Parts: sequence; C-alpha cells; structure tokens
Amino acid sequence: MRVQFHGAAGEVTGSMHLVEIGEGAAARRVLLDCGLLQGSPETELGNFAPFPFDPAALDAVVVSHAHIDHIGRLPLLVRRGFRGPIYAQDATAELMPIMLMDSASLQEGEAERRNRRRARNEPEAMPLYTREDVPAVLRQLRTLPYGKRTPILDGVDLQLRDAGHILGSCIVELWGDGRKLVFSGDLGPDGTPILRDPDTVREADLLLMESTYGDRNHRERADTIRELGEILERAWRDGGNVLIPAFAVGRSQELLYWFARHWDDWNLARWRVFLDSPMAGKVVEVYGGQHALFDADAQAVWRGTPNPFRLPNLHITRNNDESMAINRIERGAIIIAGSGMANGGRILHHLRHNLGRRQAHLVFVGYQSVGTLGRRLVDGAKWVRIYGHDYRVNLQVHTVGGLSAHTDQRGLLAWYDHFEPKPPVALVHGEDKAREALAGEIGERHGVQAELVRPGMSLDV
Ligand code: ZN
Repeated sequence: MRVQFHGAAGEVTGSMHLVEIGEGAAARRVLLDCGLLQGSPETELGNFAPFPFDPAALDAVVVSHAHIDHIGRLPLLVRRGFRGPIYAQDATAELMPIMLMDSASLQEGEAERRNRRRARNEPEAMPLYTREDVPAVLRQLRTLPYGKRTPILDGVDLQLRDAGHILGSCIVELWGDGRKLVFSGDLGPDGTPILRDPDTVREADLLLMESTYGDRNHRERADTIRELGEILERAWRDGGNVLIPAFAVGRSQELLYWFARHWDDWNLARWRVFLDSPMAGKVVEVYGGQHALFDADAQAVWRGTPNPFRLPNLHITRNNDESMAINRIERGAIIIAGSGMANGGRILHHLRHNLGRRQAHLVFVGYQSVGTLGRRLVDGAKWVRIYGHDYRVNLQVHTVGGLSAHTDQRGLLAWYDHFEPKPPVALVHGEDKAREALAGEIGERHGVQAELVRPGMSLDV
C-alpha cells in the first residue's frame, strides 16, 4: 500500500490523498477526500488544473467530512470521468448536497462577476462547475455508519470513526495488502458542544494526521462561554443589537446550543434571535434529524426545554425580504448571519445598519483571515467600506476565542498517544509553522520522525 499526497500537504485547504493498494494491473486506487483549494485568487486558480491522476482510473473515493475544502472538487472529478462509489458517513452524505450546491452557486457568481468586468478581447470566464454538476456526484454516494468495517473493493476494507469536528466527520481506517492506513480527517477538540469526542484508534502502519493547530493551545472553553454571556448582558443594558458573523455549518448550530443551555442564566427570553441564513437553516434540519450522533450532554439538552433548534424566539429567515425586515429592529436582536469572516453574505447589510450605533455589539466567534472585513474590524478599523460606501465604526467589537472546531497541539499529541506501537506519521492539513512545531514534539516524546509531506510526494504504508 502506498499514499501519494496531492493537496493539504503544506497548506490547509484542498485535502486530497491517493492510496494505491497492490501493484500493476491488480492495483486498486482509493482517493481520500477531493477538496477545494481556498484562499488567494492564485491559490484558487489551482482548482482549474487537471487532476494529477486519471479520475477514470480510480476505484473509489472516501470523504472524511462535508467541509468544502474536503469535498469541493468532487463535481469536477465526476465530470472528468470518475464513475465509482463515493463513501461517506450518513450525516456527511446529508450535508453534502447543501454544501456542494452552495459551492456551485458561489462558483457561478464568481464567473458572472469576472465576466461583467471582462475586457472585450478577454475570453469568457467559465465557472469551475455549476449546480447542474452536483446531482451526478450525489448519485454515486454510498453511505456508511460509524464503526462498521466494510469491504469496499476486492481485499480492501474501510471503517469510519467519529472525529468530533462537525456532524458526520470521520477518522478513516483503510485495510489492504495486510497493512493498515489511518487518516485522522479534521479532529475536533474534546468537549466540543453537541458532538462526541474523537474516537481513539490504537493501530496503524501509517498515520496521516491533521496539524492545523499543531503549534498552539486553545484557551479554556468555559472562559469563552462566560465571556459570551457577559457580552450579551452588556448589549442588553446598552440597548443595541448583537451581530454574530458565523459559518453555516457547525458554529451557527453551536451558538443555538449555548443559547438553549444558558436560556435562564443569560435571560435569553427577552431577546429576538435571528438565524439569517437559509443554508444554516437547512443544516439545522440535518443536525436535528441526526441527534442520535450527539454526545450525552447534548442529548440531555435536546430532550430539555427549550430545544436548541426550536427556541421560542428563534426566527430562521427563508428569503431576502425577511432578512431585510431585520434592518428595522434597533435593539434587542441577536443576529447570526454569514459569512463568518464578514467578506460577503447577509452579515454585510446588518453591519451597514449597525456599524454607526454605539449601543450595538459585534461578536467574532471564529478565525478572521488577513484581508477580510472581519479582520479589519478586529484590528480596530475606524472606517470600513461596504458595497462602495464608507461607514464609521461606532459599534463595540469583541473577539471570543476558544471555539475552534480543530483540536490544539495538546489534543493532537494526546490523540497520537493512544497508538501502540507509535506509527510513522505524515502531517497534513497545516501550515509549515504548525507542522514543524508538532513534528518537534512528536520527535521529542516518541522518537518518531514526522514527515512534512509535499504535493506529489509518496510514502509506503
Ligand atoms: Zn473541516
């Protein structure tokens, strides 16, 4: 068995690893993840390049979870000739149509924008793929529950384990040729709300491990939650609205969960809560339908009152008119809307109406990359530009850390500690600084040299 690395090897996005089992004519080929490259325009141009292998020669694809940097190139893979099964955990398979349709709409919108600005002699910009490419991917889906070892090809077995990162997220175990490969996928921190802690795995001949936060540790979650409660209390006294930019999957559902859990002590009944994202609304439905996957705390909250996804004052907006109507509210509204970095989406029009209000509060609950509006606000910008207009920033900006969906250095090392004996490691899904720090720790503690793999590199299992 042999793995070749083609994405998220030296960067975070575009997760894609090719596993070959056996040799010559009898070789079977399994692709782990087929993610979209995300980031700068130059990085994203890489999505248009041909695959570094023949899609038609693959026997199967296994996806670790429904984030677009792990599944976002599947429509291309199918369009370019892949006809085999795509294995995914049940909940992941339910999230995939929502995520892929959204990604396709963004691609179509991006091509339209480029064509509007296009010079006469420039060729027409084509979208990477369109919504019409998505149904073919979904027809090739085969679902698996957690913890069921299943033969997927002649002499190749697959088992998916809970990775505790988002609903349906998986650690992938793959057996073939008498060897075993483990791919961590993205690992959630222990104690992530709603989800169970990542399963532990004990045996591997080679481990592909994520390393997003390989160089740092998160702050305590309890401090973060207390801070969130304090901000809401202050905002109520100030008599303003609270804006929370959040991604549609994971963080939006987590916030509703915290609201249900702290319903009484945060006195939430006095607020009106808006989840202003049709996509987040659909994801809420999937989470609700899959509540059997929740951890014990969330099971209890789910059975209690109020239900996190049916708070009595929760409004999930379905269309633009309902979203626009929120603009008339000057106080007492908690508005959760995308995008999470405020570089697009409905949060922008809520910002336009609230940036000038001293009594309004803006709460960031996720990482803000350089170059986004979110980052400029976090960095204390006094004026910002939205849709070509300048707005003075009077509202109060807060950054609430510690809600990451990725485990930290301590968590990664503790998870690796369960393997016996310690397998060789290839570090993926992390920038070099994070990978180097994690490799240093693994080397020091266990005498194992962790590989910082690069695109095109191969390792024997
Ligand atoms: Zn992820």
